[in-house]
Amino acid sequence: MPRDVRMKGFAERADVAEVQRFLAGRTAPLPAEPVPLFECAGRVLARDIRAEVDVPGFARAAMDGYALRGEDSFGAAPQDPIALRLLGEALPGRPFAGRVNAGEAVRIMTGAPLPEGADAVAPAETCAESGDAVAVREPVAPRSHAGARGEDIRRGEVPLRAGRRLRPQDAGLLAAIGAAHAPCHRRPRVRLITTGDELLPPGSRPGGARIVDSNSVVLAGLVARDGGELLRGEILPDCEERIRAALCEADADLLLISGGSSVGKEDFAPRLVAELGALHFHGVAMRPSSPAGVGEIAGALAFLLPGNPVSCLCAYEFFAGPALRKLGGRPRSWPHRRRRAALARKIASQIGRVDYVRVALENGRVLPLATSGASILSSTVRAAGAVIVPRDREGIPEGEEVEVLLYDECEAQGDAA
Ligand code: AMP
Ligand code: MG
Repeated sequence: MPRDVRMKGFAERADVAEVQRFLAGRTAPLPAEPVPLFECAGRVLARDIRAEVDVPGFARAAMDGYALRGEDSFGAAPQDPIALRLLGEALPGRPFAGRVNAGEAVRIMTGAPLPEGADAVAPAETCAESGDAVAVREPVAPRSHAGARGEDIRRGEVPLRAGRRLRPQDAGLLAAIGAAHAPCHRRPRVRLITTGDELLPPGSRPGGARIVDSNSVVLAGLVARDGGELLRGEILPDCEERIRAALCEADADLLLISGGSSVGKEDFAPRLVAELGALHFHGVAMRPSSPAGVGEIAGALAFLLPGNPVSCLCAYEFFAGPALRKLGGRPRSWPHRRRRAALARKIASQIGRVDYVRVALENGRVLPLATSGASILSSTVRAAGAVIVPRDREGIPEGEEVEVLLYDECEAQGDAA
């Protein structure tokens, strides 16, 4: 039943864990779609891949030289070379048609099929060719400098498993085994609805009482990081009708609604989500982002993200991010690299609430940032990452080792540790 949540306050704030459990139960990876190989790196494989062919499909030369029967070279030495009759040549893609018998050899280039009868390649630098003979100056054991059929990938093998985030080399392997497409989970489509009378579109110069919408830009980056496909977004004034219309027409797997998520008179989003679908949670025991909410409209999860930039980021990270990743077939867990280090200064918190604390790394220690209100976007820029204070802890004392979720995917910037 739709319910009016305005001015109810947050008498009953949900636990972060409860909301996360709900979302985990409500999300399942989207179905598979065939993705062209040139576009599949970074996508998530929806099925196990079984090789239907051997790669290579033939034994091949691993060096430029002469294909021969290894035993024919036994006893060869620089001062006592063994002469073999040169039958012809094998090139990559152009095999030698005949057979190599005792006392015979074929000139061969790396990657060319080993002729029938030959079992090794004598490297060119150990041989001397003259006319229709080749002198072998060093012995080569059978199988030397030759790759067996299937040495790379064996038919029947499963080189890639469902859930794998495809690396560029994985895409290459798919090509190597003859696949034309990669069956990947469809990327979740994300609709971004940004609300606020005070907002100017990104690219504007802020002036007067107006600020530039930075949340859309942050969210776009987070959605891209988590594998979502961002649909056209829009900035709407705090106008109930406009927001209702936008929510109605949203054709997406996931809705992100920035701003107007609290319990004030102008905060239409929670009530509209309840009216058009269901509002499952509104108000979460956390800081920042306590006015966050989760609902759904027409089967799409809808996330109410408070307008304050740090709250918006935080609510995305705790709720929308895991849901989005799961829809796309990725792990729900934090995608950040982590670092453990001791706290340089205590963090204060309250029992019953989860805190998302921006921290710097200084001399290998974790320093909670002082200017860290929910409206201070720059705190997330100065920070190396975030520390999460669990619900059941009254802060964390100085010196205790904590885990930092690092914002940078690669080497932390400006990190002296
Ligand atoms: P709201 O959640 O709409 O009450 O907004 C809370 C605070 O966040 C206000 O100071 C807004 O001006 C600010 N804010 C809302 N939306 C955005 C946005 N898209 N980008 C930056 N700041 C915002
Ligand atoms: Mg607002």
